[in-house]
Amino acid sequence: MRKFADRRRLRCIIVPMRVLKFGGTSVGDAERIRGVVAIVRGRAAADGRVAVVVSAQSGVTNQLIELAHHAAAGHADPAPLRARLEGLIADLSLEPGLIDDELDELETLLRGISLVGDLTLRSLDRMMSFGERCSARISAAAMVAAGLPARAYMAYDVGLVTDATYGSAHVQPESYERIEAALDAAFDDGLLPVVTGFVAKDGDGYITTLGRGGSDYSAAIFGAALGAAEIEIWTDVDGVMSADPRIVAGARSLDRMSFEEAAELAYYGAKVIHPATIQPAVWKDIPIRVLNTMRPEHPGTLILRASASEPGVRSIASKGGITAVHVTSHRMLLQVGFMRRMFEVFERHQIVIDMISTSEVSVTVTTDNPKNLPAADAELREFSEVRVDGDKAILCLVGEGLRDVPDVLTRVFAVLQRESVPVRMVSVGASRINVSLLVDRGDEKRAVKALHAEFFGV
Ligand code: ADP
Ligand code: ASP
Ligand code: MG
Repeated sequence: MRKFADRRRLRCIIVPMRVLKFGGTSVGDAERIRGVVAIVRGRAAADGRVAVVVSAQSGVTNQLIELAHHAAAGHADPAPLRARLEGLIADLSLEPGLIDDELDELETLLRGISLVGDLTLRSLDRMMSFGERCSARISAAAMVAAGLPARAYMAYDVGLVTDATYGSAHVQPESYERIEAALDAAFDDGLLPVVTGFVAKDGDGYITTLGRGGSDYSAAIFGAALGAAEIEIWTDVDGVMSADPRIVAGARSLDRMSFEEAAELAYYGAKVIHPATIQPAVWKDIPIRVLNTMRPEHPGTLILRASASEPGVRSIASKGGITAVHVTSHRMLLQVGFMRRMFEVFERHQIVIDMISTSEVSVTVTTDNPKNLPAADAELREFSEVRVDGDKAILCLVGEGLRDVPDVLTRVFAVLQRESVPVRMVSVGASRINVSLLVDRGDEKRAVKALHAEFFGV
């Protein structure tokens, strides 16, 4: 075992290895997949060792979810999905039966769901897995056709094990050694692994998924397991930008940022990278580079331990679908133990809190997952008054040293006042790098645009 680890360490020094993850748009059609093949070829020629992680074709996961719900309601028609994927295979001139096994299994599962008339989270995970499973087969076959020694692997066949939290499963620690052993064997055979993102299996062998957008997380897990020199996240924009370019047309890409900045942005809604991606990278200190498949020559954004930037606002993220819960103590003042009781209720009902603000007699918290609130509400009412306020959004300004920049808040409030955007809550100081504000959902985009104009001039 020790010898094996030493050998790998030695090999890593001689041959740096890289994990390349391609998102849904990057593998969305034949032209893009040809672009992916060219990128992989370039990296393999330069670095030798490359592992690829792929997402489902864009829109496919949503289509699978919809099919599952239709099946539970009585009837689902997988023909359009089959036609799309088979069309892609034909456009790439690959073997027509390439994904027949997956598509047949999908149809059997749909029949099963419609027979039972019930959709469990476990069945839904298995449904969603077909997107990445087909995508890995198609991408690997396209690489083989172009002369690369690629082979498709299902992540669960090469060691990725999670708990049984279907829909957002947690990685089990033994995964890392197992992945290392399995993929090292593939490398030793001269293969270029093309692995499914997003999916895994639990200890009982049932398919799980890592949460929407979770292929980024898969890439980081594989990068950490293999001791990669860099994890590359290939997507449809020029790296991490100063705001979501779909909201702010003039958003600009950042050349580098810290792990912490990226984690905050991802958590507060910057979809470009899944929030969990940063953990394995931080653990093994592996830089992440976010790149654009459609403009591979663009340097993108390098995310690493330290940011070399001046203190100030570097990016603005926002997250809608937030619910505020106002809890007021029955007694006139917050009593000793009140907070503990309140948080125990949230914990029991698995309600994750984003922001918190307190006054003498009341506490307001926010959550992005209000599903379990009705049950928690009843328990909170035993010792407090409760008011639930939906349809809110969190705006989050991120930048190293932001807490120490004196005029940030003055400028934020001046802008929002000018735009007539009422601020419902504010959080500053808890983190060195983040200022968060709660606004009404209807004001979200306008506020992001105005704040971006203030801090970036566009
Ligand atoms: P992929 O399918 O490659 O994983 P995603 O759609 O998950 O891609 O993420 C990329 C998208 O993230 C971009 O198209 C962009 O609209 C959105 N996005 C949100 N915030 C940011 C940001 N700060 N920087 C870059 N992109 C962002
Ligand atoms: N295909 C999955 C999703 O749409 C995972 C991913 O794209 O990262 O959520
Ligand atoms: Mg994504």
